[in-house]
Amino acid sequence: MYWMDMTEQEIADAVGAFGVPKFRIKQVVEWLRKGVRPKDMTNLPKDLRAKLETIPFGGATIYDKRVSPKDGTIKYLFELEDGNLVEGVLMRYSYGNTVCLSTQVGCNMGCRFCASTLEGCVRSLRPGEMLSFLAEIERDEPPAEGKPRTVTNIVLMGSGEPLDNYDNVVTFLRRVTSEQGPNISARNISLSTCGIVPKIYRLIEDAPHVTLSISLHAHSNEVRSELMPINKAYPIEQVLEAAKAYADKTGRRVVFEYALIGGKNDSEADADALAARLRGLLCHVNLIPLNPVKERGLDGVTRAYAHRFCEWLEARHISATVRREMGADIEGACGQLRRRVLNEIRG
Ligand code: SAH
Repeated sequence: MYWMDMTEQEIADAVGAFGVPKFRIKQVVEWLRKGVRPKDMTNLPKDLRAKLETIPFGGATIYDKRVSPKDGTIKYLFELEDGNLVEGVLMRYSYGNTVCLSTQVGCNMGCRFCASTLEGCVRSLRPGEMLSFLAEIERDEPPAEGKPRTVTNIVLMGSGEPLDNYDNVVTFLRRVTSEQGPNISARNISLSTCGIVPKIYRLIEDAPHVTLSISLHAHSNEVRSELMPINKAYPIEQVLEAAKAYADKTGRRVVFEYALIGGKNDSEADADALAARLRGLLCHVNLIPLNPVKERGLDGVTRAYAHRFCEWLEARHISATVRREMGADIEGACGQLRRRVLNEIRG
């Protein structure tokens, strides 16, 4: 058991076992909920801090950080206690700051255009590790004056497939939205999935206020299966049914991510077929010009072209936008910074 994963009761039991007065338990809980390590729990006696340090913390530290001179986006590489490295990104918008968090070290989903999955999934992240990313970012980039925190929004769109780490992700969502924790509104949190259909239905029950994003990337099963192996298990029809169930249950629109890949899914006929698929569904399409990954051999499109595709969808009454490009100059795309650093370390 790790400190950062413990419930309040588990913390009380663990601290109580060291034979200290009850008020100490409350102090430890408060520190842990801020992601603070035992050695930095400044209002505790030294010998108690030393005892607490005998239990592993289960958090992350900042291993590397790159700041985009263009838009202030910060790409973090976190180090976990077992030496694994995983990415996170802080993006600044006029309405607040969004953090993009990873849910696994690597990924097992095998999408053909994605750098995170090239070496499979090393392991899933625990809730305490994901909470620790937030705490580390808040410490690294303190809130502006008068603001309670730096991070106002979270997207689970880093490396990994969140629904392939279901229980840990749902525990993370509960804790990050709780008043005792960072208290971030579920409406300010998006979860992006490649489309593990049965888990989408579970998520609708367990976390209905979280915004659901689905990586669609194609309108036909033929192309989607080629790009995303998960489509062979859960084809488009099933993905769209699950999306409809989410919209019906929550009254909120589903966001479909669609990476534009040159010559693959980006023609006007593709826009037409996509619009036909989505007609009548409460949804929004987020267009992303593919960020070409060296190892993958797929082409991107220009932003100007992405805007044309967007107009084709809008002309067919499908709400769509082109995703703002943040941190492209600092390898903001999934899995790219981690790969670069791993390649450097391995020589
Ligand atoms: N596993 C989840 C979340 C992680 S990826 C999912 O599949 O949704 C976040 C988004 O980035 C997904 O839509 C993913 O398909 C997309 N993505 C991955 N690699 C990309 C690339 N090279 N260029 C553009 N988008 C990419």
